[in-house]
Amino acid sequence: MDWELVIGLEVHAQLLTATKIFCGCSTAFGAEPNSQVCPVCLGLPGALPVLNRQVVEHTLKVALATHCTVAPRSRFARKNYFYPDLPKGYQISQYELPILEHGFLTVEDDAGNPKRIGITRIHMEEDAGKLLHPEGPGAGGREHSLVDLNRACVPLIEIVSEPDLRSPKEASQYVRKLREILVYLGVCDGNMNEGSLRADANVSVRPRGQAAFGTRAEIKNLNSFRFLEQAIAYERRRQIELLEDGGKVIQETRLFDSARGITVSMRSKEEAHDYRYFPDPDLLPVVVEPAWLEAVQRDLPELPDARRRRFQEGYGLPAYDADLLCQSRELADYFEAAVAAHDDPKAVSNWMMGSLLRELNKEGAPPLARAPVTPRHLAAMLGLVKQGVVSANAAKEVFEEMWATGKMPEAVVAEKGLARLTDTSSLEAAVEEVLAANPAEVQAYRGGKSKLLGFFVGQVMRRTQGKADPAQVNEQVRRKLEG
Ligand SMILES: [Zn+2]
Repeated sequence: MDWELVIGLEVHAQLLTATKIFCGCSTAFGAEPNSQVCPVCLGLPGALPVLNRQVVEHTLKVALATHCTVAPRSRFARKNYFYPDLPKGYQISQYELPILEHGFLTVEDDAGNPKRIGITRIHMEEDAGKLLHPEGPGAGGREHSLVDLNRACVPLIEIVSEPDLRSPKEASQYVRKLREILVYLGVCDGNMNEGSLRADANVSVRPRGQAAFGTRAEIKNLNSFRFLEQAIAYERRRQIELLEDGGKVIQETRLFDSARGITVSMRSKEEAHDYRYFPDPDLLPVVVEPAWLEAVQRDLPELPDARRRRFQEGYGLPAYDADLLCQSRELADYFEAAVAAHDDPKAVSNWMMGSLLRELNKEGAPPLARAPVTPRHLAAMLGLVKQGVVSANAAKEVFEEMWATGKMPEAVVAEKGLARLTDTSSLEAAVEEVLAANPAEVQAYRGGKSKLLGFFVGQVMRRTQGKADPAQVNEQVRRKLEG
């Protein structure tokens, strides 16, 4: 039978704020356990939460970038359940009145065509704490757990998609797109290793052509694009095999075991929580006046898709270049700064995609903001190439030296003697020397082995340390041999 895969995603993104959603504690990652807590985020009796305005502002930016409708009035609810990392016994989230609804994102489907993926809702909520399971001598093995509440009350948005995704690739595309937008907006650092972005996938299969959905399984906490694709692909196989063997898919929550590449059952629907949501009596409704939304709109940065289009149309770059350069806001900004100083977009793009990205991708490389080769360095170097001061070949060496030392290209060229050999007498001398050193080859060439021309040119280039212009060398050698 021909089966169709149906996927809906719930993505949790941590918002980039200095302080937590309902208190003034720091959100910095990696601090000593329980060093960033107060009565509010610990949920101590009598402590009152106060909503962080920045959280709403960030969420409004997301609304504008994902075409969502903003509710003029939304409300926080208590989601009641008991878990050791949630000492107050409920999570503050939004429930029946989320702040954003009915948006969409455009991704590429597997055939490369644009496809719209609906966003059902986006709501604000607090994160819970984290359980640590110490091992080793003195720690009691796995006999006890420790609770770190630094993450408790850290602001999150949950982005719930429509079940519009049809393949593992589409699903990871969607999360990539979402991540790119959030990072461009400056509302999330997008760091999946630190849990700033993680996805739950609702996966089901149905016979192609059938309108009703199959029973779905939810796979929790996928924190890399690769795991997301692997988990969905595994789940598709598992469900199809089960159905074809006459079995039934049961609605349950599963976890992805990345070491084994499989999903395993965590809890079935029967054990699922009844959260008994009710409006949080301690928090006022969230009211978004039109003026606030307009102000956010005015400050909205250019979004990645729009920037890609502009890079193609405004700078005449191929789609491939535009796509690569716009993969981060920093890289795109770098490009524009370099082009402002050296008006040859394609040359700038070539050097960025080649030498610059190669250096940046090396292990231990600094982030682009602290790269030793700045847009000013790159533009100045391209200027030297354009003026004919250095050959394109020597420019590679100039680039490496700039990267190693942070020196400007003029200084590198002077120190390393990389200026192009322009005076004809020294070039002539080099040609003479090469011919004199290879009499047998000269004779062979004159006897008809014209392929040897390349050999002589190569020798001259080596002798001039690549500083000569190959076309000029070619001409000189030919004249000497044939003259
Ligand atoms: Zn706190």
